[in-house]
Amino acid sequence: MSKEEYKLNTSSTALQDRLGRQLHDLRISVTDRCNFRCVYCMPKEKFGRDHRFLPRDELLHFEEIERVARLFAGLGVRKIRLTGGEPLVRAELETLIRKLRAIDGITDLSLTSNASLMTEARARSLRDAGLNRVNISLDALDEATFHRISDVNVSVDQVLQGIEHAASAGFDSVKVNMVVKKGLNDHCVLPMARHFHGSGKILRFIEFMDVGNTNGWQSGQVVAAQQIVDTISRELPLEPVGANYPGEVAKRWKYKDGGGEIGVISSVTQPFCGSCSRIRLSAVGKLYTCLFASEGTDIREALRSGDDDAALLRRLRALWSQRQDRYSETRTQVQVLQPRSKIEMSYIGG
Ligand code: SAM
Ligand code: SF4
Ligand code: SF4
Repeated sequence: MSKEEYKLNTSSTALQDRLGRQLHDLRISVTDRCNFRCVYCMPKEKFGRDHRFLPRDELLHFEEIERVARLFAGLGVRKIRLTGGEPLVRAELETLIRKLRAIDGITDLSLTSNASLMTEARARSLRDAGLNRVNISLDALDEATFHRISDVNVSVDQVLQGIEHAASAGFDSVKVNMVVKKGLNDHCVLPMARHFHGSGKILRFIEFMDVGNTNGWQSGQVVAAQQIVDTISRELPLEPVGANYPGEVAKRWKYKDGGGEIGVISSVTQPFCGSCSRIRLSAVGKLYTCLFASEGTDIREALRSGDDDAALLRRLRALWSQRQDRYSETRTQVQVLQPRSKIEMSYIGG
């Protein structure tokens, strides 16, 4: 698309879905592969050694991802997050980052990673390529719990080092994400809060979600965000802080003693579908308008069969305009009345 076409698209009335939500964020899963087998995401009993991951030629090429991202930028997308699977296992990721960084209109380019491959040199090369923020997942500080969750031979120390490497590479922000599941790692909430208190890194707690069908989710395994805040606040008093921008997913709390802030993502107990501005592109080129979708819309076929930008734009525009997803607000009814298969987290990223 030329700069003129881009301006035309961005100056036209912002694209809204059927519930009046504006498209703003694009999450791109660059691979379905991962070197971890987190029990809440890619459990080994379902994704064991023999699991058939997608053949490489089925994955979108970087040029294809770039094209889709550029078209979306023309429809209002400003933020892009790279995810997976584990995005750092995709070869030459920096090449993709450079391409995405060069797209007009994209103001924020971030990555979510388990950090096991975040060496000092890798962190620097990601930063040099144009990545500006990094979120790193870490669910426990004690080796036994960490291993019970990730089910691989990687140490907590390796992840903590990855976090430090990212911090020294000069990203605009490095956040740490912890999924909390009752009976698995809820005893780690306070140790994690203590560890990152005063460190300059924002720790965010995520409620365990019923994404996909393989993690055996039950509502009783969710630790409510408010309960997490109360637990921490009893030892390290917290007070709420306003959102950085409208529709921010994490609710912010700051330590009263000046030790920084935490975030809580209450996707289950206090859903935020009303402001959900995200679309997701899977590694094989399917678009999902909700994390809990059953079906995606294939765009790879159109990309590979020579459709021009105008035809693709029509399809993308139609997809968002017809969107009316609000799964988390209707979770209980949907689960009872229409149980169905949902796409796995490792295919579309968090
Ligand atoms: N492999 C990378 C990582 O773990 O950061 C990126 C992909 S991972 C699917 C993205 C995020 O989703 C991680 O923070 C992970 O903890 C979170 N996640 C995975 N399954 C989840 C679930 N069932 N509920 C809540 N968060 C989940
Ligand atoms: Fe891999 Fe991330 Fe899923 Fe864990 S949460 S299995 S690191 S994709
Ligand atoms: Fe967005 Fe779907 Fe999550 Fe609601 S349930 S916030 S629509 S991804």
